[in-house]
Amino acid sequence: MSKESKKKISAAPSWLGLTDDRSSFVFLPDRAEIVQEIFELAIGGMGSYAIANYLDQKRVPTFTQSLFWDHTTIDYMLRNRATYGEYQPKSFAAGHKKGIPSGPPISGYYPAVIDKATFDAAQVARQQNLAQRGRKGKDLANIFGGLCSCAYCGGAVIFHRISNVQVLVCEQVLSDSACSRSAWTYKDFETTVLAFLAHPALLDRVGEERKTALLDLVEEIKGLSFDQDRRYARRVNITLLLKQIVAGLIVHSAGNLSVPRHSSAQIRKDMDGRYVEIQLRDGPSYRCISIA
Ligand SMILES: [Zn+2]
Repeated sequence: MSKESKKKISAAPSWLGLTDDRSSFVFLPDRAEIVQEIFELAIGGMGSYAIANYLDQKRVPTFTQSLFWDHTTIDYMLRNRATYGEYQPKSFAAGHKKGIPSGPPISGYYPAVIDKATFDAAQVARQQNLAQRGRKGKDLANIFGGLCSCAYCGGAVIFHRISNVQVLVCEQVLSDSACSRSAWTYKDFETTVLAFLAHPALLDRVGEERKTALLDLVEEIKGLSFDQDRRYARRVNITLLLKQIVAGLIVHSAGNLSVPRHSSAQIRKDMDGRYVEIQLRDGPSYRCISIA
């Protein structure tokens, strides 16, 4: 056995398997999907305790012999750069059980289960969670994690705070690229999309196999307004049901924008004419104008 393959075996993250000759890593699709879901939930505002509880409730099997998910495992996974393929060589000098970084990280060492942008978004969400609500973070601020993309550049539209207002904004805008320099107040966006999905006429437009999910979704949406105790559980459910019904949300936060704005321009909130294109999994897309 070569030195290289030995190293691979010892460093394999729990969501990857090894080929029969134990020389390279392979995807374990079920586990990769769980890791992706954990990142989505974290980006949506769930803390590691809440994610562990949630996975237990759904009886998602752990990656070890353990019967239950542990928040430290979740937190470790969310901070682990191996999720997007990076490997940090370590030296194990006396007294350092976990090893200390030695040399530059190697990218593309593991098959990536998420991309770097998703990893970075999760770090931002973790920091916000730790800063605002402590480690038990029980609020689910964004129910559209992983669903929104920018109509102008195709990039991800992410949950963010601009001078203490929660907004959805194109990632390019935050990285000081040009794009639209516009943001959509989160609350307004959520109200708009949920009102559309709760409309009775939609039931006739989705395929048979999605009707149950849509009915469940409508019930959870309606419950939000009168049932504060179950608010958190309802929002988690909505997040999951949304993914069964909606393939993507294309955000036109500046309406029919013709030219990108200069990267130094101020970010404008809630521009007139803004709309979101709701793509249903069954095919049709609907243009949905802000109802604020
Ligand atoms: Zn954009």
